[in-house]
Amino acid sequence: MILSPYDSEDHGEIREGVRKLCAQFPGEYWRKLDEKRQYPTEFVNALTQAGWLSVLIPEEYGGSGLGLGAAAAILETIQAEGGNGGACHAQMYIMGTILRHGSEEQKCQYLPKIASGELRLQAFGVTEPTSGTDTTSLRTFARREGDEYVVNGQKIWTSRAEHSDLMLLLARTTPREELAKKTDGLSVFIVDMREVVGRSLTIRPIRTMMNHATTEVFFDNMRIPAANLLGEEGKGFRYILSGMNAERVLIAAECVGDAKWFTQRSVEYAKERQVFGRAIGANQGVAFPIAKAYAQMRAAELMVREAARMYEAGLPMGAEANMAKMLAADASWEAGNACVQTHGGFGFAEEYDVERKLRETRLYQVAPISTNLILSFLAEHVLGLPRSY
Ligand SMILES: Cc1cc2nc3c(=O)[nH]c(=O)nc-3n(C[C@H](O)[C@H](O)[C@H](O)COP(=O)(O)OP(=O)(O)OC[C@H]3O[C@@H](n4cnc5c(N)ncnc54)[C@H](O)[C@@H]3O)c2cc1C
Repeated sequence: MILSPYDSEDHGEIREGVRKLCAQFPGEYWRKLDEKRQYPTEFVNALTQAGWLSVLIPEEYGGSGLGLGAAAAILETIQAEGGNGGACHAQMYIMGTILRHGSEEQKCQYLPKIASGELRLQAFGVTEPTSGTDTTSLRTFARREGDEYVVNGQKIWTSRAEHSDLMLLLARTTPREELAKKTDGLSVFIVDMREVVGRSLTIRPIRTMMNHATTEVFFDNMRIPAANLLGEEGKGFRYILSGMNAERVLIAAECVGDAKWFTQRSVEYAKERQVFGRAIGANQGVAFPIAKAYAQMRAAELMVREAARMYEAGLPMGAEANMAKMLAADASWEAGNACVQTHGGFGFAEEYDVERKLRETRLYQVAPISTNLILSFLAEHVLGLPRSY
């Protein structure tokens, strides 16, 4: 079913290629992994080999040098085909920090290997148990000692750490009390986890309501070469912020894909299921929530496209990235809710995949940024309302 003209018009060939790849990984594949909370290694390998995860890496470093719109089309299609891009989406955008702020040597060292799949950069260590959304209050500290940094502290919700070679780590390098601005004194490092895991780096999986391979990680005098500092010491918070808009657009695209999957399933079932001698979709009480969620998805889709367009044009687009993320997460949730309701009891049966997709899409109202914080950003920075925190 064609749910939007953009399904064919916007990067149509890319979408078609991703659809074909996803057809090899049907609902049953995701269901089995979900049951055992296992990582979709075969799917991620197939995506990597097909080059879909390296589209944002410039050609000179082994990628295909495409824009954010192409990356959004890939992730949206994975979700719309019933898969879960959460297993690998970070590989697409974390490397942007190396690309924008790394030295030429670092770019040559890491990007071609990330593009080929030889190195996996999937882990992003920002959130800590006590800091929460208030990132600048993080406590993990990297102390310079000669040619190395010695890192102590803890991160939480470090997704895919067990399935990654490298981690992008945000740590404090100057104590907060010695600085006038709390956003200063944070630095970004590339951690080669293969060298330290099981010794000064401990990874503990966290079982969550959906299959997301998330973990908590502990640093105990973890030594990393000073050469692995990205950009300037103390400027790391700005580097991380500069990557967040791309991340929000891509997550929003995933939510649009989820909304499409839910809508397609709702429509098929509402046409086919007969109760009281007619298709349940003939009842407006069934049809309207599906139609409403569809309209919300289409509006969110436009905002995602607008945000991606502005990003590619190098325009300021913090508001659009945030709005795209919020509208798309709301749209996928509404579409998911309508899908469960349309399926009645079968909405809860694992074999229909509806409950799995609903659990998966619920995450995006909280991560990578919660809806309240988006509203707070819009209120303060777009509408000029008083600062709340
Ligand atoms: C499955 C999963 C995967 C994740 N993956 C990663 C990852 O790979 N790397 C990483 O660094 N992080 C990751 N995260 C962390 C994620 O980004 C955070 O959970 C999210 O930013 C919210 O932070 P928090 O959980 O600390 O909530 P808190 O900051 O404790 O907030 C709790 C609630 O209070 C609300 N709140 C807080 N302050 C305010 C305020 N001033 N005004 C209004 N409401 C407020 C929030 O909106 C939220 O609803 C992941 C999280 C999950 C659940």
